[in-house]
Amino acid sequence: MIRGELRKLRLATAGAGRVQCTLRVVEGDDERLLGLNEHLGAGFTLSFSGRISCLYCGTRTRKSYGGGYCYPCFKALTTQRSQRASALKQG
Ligand SMILES: [Zn+2]
Repeated sequence: MIRGELRKLRLATAGAGRVQCTLRVVEGDDERLLGLNEHLGAGFTLSFSGRISCLYCGTRTRKSYGGGYCYPCFKALTTQRSQRASALKQG
């Protein structure tokens, strides 16, 4: 059994119109990559612990925003991005 926090599914082209799907599981400083293509047709089980943590600050949150952030981090990061975009437009 592998335990850890799931990260965004990684997709990559694998030639001949195929896609390689890789599940990223993080526990502490360790990241494990699980190729899902090898499990096609065989099946596997995922269990949700009920815990959602912010990707930026690590705080537990009831709901994630913008792909894995708590609301304060999502809001702060969105503000930073829009300020950077405005600065780039202004030159
Ligand atoms: Zn956060």
